[in-house]
Parts: sequence; structure tokens; C-alpha cells
Amino acid sequence: MREQLATVMICILLVVVGSAVGSGCLPGNGADLVETSTSAPVSTPIETGIPTITPITEEDPFLEERQRLVEVGIIGMGISDPLVIEAMGRTPRHLFVPEEYINLAYVNNPLPIGYGQTISQPYIVALMTQELGVHEGDRVLEIGTGSGYQAAVLAELGVEVFTIEIIGALAEAAADRLSALGYENVHVRHADGYFGWEEEAPFDAIIVTAAPDHVPQPLLDQVVIGGVMVIPVGPVGWFQELWSIRRIDDANFRSTSLGGVQFVPFTREVRGE
Ligand code: SAH
Repeated sequence: MREQLATVMICILLVVVGSAVGSGCLPGNGADLVETSTSAPVSTPIETGIPTITPITEEDPFLEERQRLVEVGIIGMGISDPLVIEAMGRTPRHLFVPEEYINLAYVNNPLPIGYGQTISQPYIVALMTQELGVHEGDRVLEIGTGSGYQAAVLAELGVEVFTIEIIGALAEAAADRLSALGYENVHVRHADGYFGWEEEAPFDAIIVTAAPDHVPQPLLDQVVIGGVMVIPVGPVGWFQELWSIRRIDDANFRSTSLGGVQFVPFTREVRGE
């Protein structure tokens, strides 16, 4: 935990020092980190030991770039859960970004995905996923499907993912993409995620990838006792605080801060486009 906090603090410093502040989660300075790294690119696939949903073949043109990101931007920034590291190494982020950004898919930054939204920075995806502490077969609710990338990383961990997106076109595109890639354990819904997914509740873990200014009570109610919710909370357009909130019993929760982050706003207007 100390390591994670330290890493997040370093990221905040990098962001404050850096000039590029994009929308979406923590912009970070992943590109600089990649360029200044002294570690050699890895040329062989990471051995996983658990079933691979997305087949990674010799022809994958981004394999080395992805492995380099995992080495430098995931492991190098303090992520230590081997299953999360393997899932990040298997998930083809280049298939979740708009074509014009495909060459930036493995830079450790958020990228625009249209409609003013972003696919999150890979390091933050890994950090939040690690914090969820999920096990194969768990049921996880994600609010903010976006491109579907975070959902795919969770699916690679063998969990059943329920993900809600408020913008119809993004929900539809993500559902199509996830099913084309064979992620059968992801269910996408177009709705306001504020109310969670009552019919499928409770969930072993909930991840919120847009920032509300308060923690939605319906989401707290849908976490199992002993389960966790990871959520950025704070004002729109500035840094928010990333919280890990564990449900202790029916009425009690314990919150731990994971540091400062920057996410797109949690909105309440269901859009069709
Ligand atoms: N997890 C995504 C990135 C999320 S960006 C990925 O991996 O690509 C945040 C997303 O949250 C945006 O697509 C935004 O439209 C969505 N969002 C914002 N408020 C929401 C709400 N109330 N319910 C559901 N989705 C919401």
C-alpha cells in the first residue's frame, strides 16, 4: 500500500510538473517514462499460466510495445499483482483506441475515444484493478464502460463483468468490440450508472471510472460485505481523490485514499448518440 501511495504521489508530481493535462484519468507522463527507461524491450510473451481469452499470436504487431509498457509503466511504477500484470500483458489496448491513435496505444497516457471521453491511462487501469483484488468467478460492476478496455482487463482475470455506460454510442461500440474479441463474460448496459445494476447485485467489487462529486449510495448498497469499491471522487475539471472503500458490515465502510487522479466527470444525463 505504501508503495502504491508513493507511486501515485510521484505521478501527481509528474502531472503537476508536466504541461500536458488531458481529460480522463491521470494524464501522467508515461511517454517520458518510456523514452527515458533503460530497460531493454522484452521480446518474448509473458508466460501467463491462466487461460488466454484473446489469442496473442506471433503476428501481433504490438506485442513488444505492450510488453515494454507492462515492464516500464506497470511493473516499473509499482504494480505487483502477477495476475493483473499478466492481464495487462494480454489485453490488446490497440484494439480499444480510435484508429488514428493506434500508434499511441501503448504509451502510458489516456487517449480520446470520442464524445469528450477517454480511455484511461494503463497504469491507472492496473492500479484500480489490483486494488479490486478480484478472484476468478467474482462478479464485478464497472461504471463508465467507455471503450471497454477496463472491462476487458477484468474479463482477462476470469471475472463476470457488468458494465454501464451513459453514452449510447459508446455502449454500443464497446459491446460490439468486446463480443468481436470473444469476451463473453462482459455484459454492457446503456444507462446512468448512479443507480448501479440492481437486478445483478450484489457485486464482489465495483469500479467507477468517471468522477462523481460524492459516492453514490446505490453503489455502496450493491457491494457485498467484505467487498470493495474503487472510485475517484472530487470536483469536475481538477484532481480528484481515488478511494478504495471496503464494506465492513451492513452499515460500515472503511475508506483508504490511493492518491490524486484526474478522471472525466460522472454525468447524470443519459445520451443516445
Ligand atoms: N473505463 C473506460 C474509460 C472510462 S471514461 C475505458 O476503459 O475505456 C469514463 C466513462 O464514463 C465515459 O465513457 C463516460 O461517458 C462514462 N460515464 C460518465 N458518467 C456516467 C454515468 N453516470 N453512468 C455510466 N457511465 C458514465
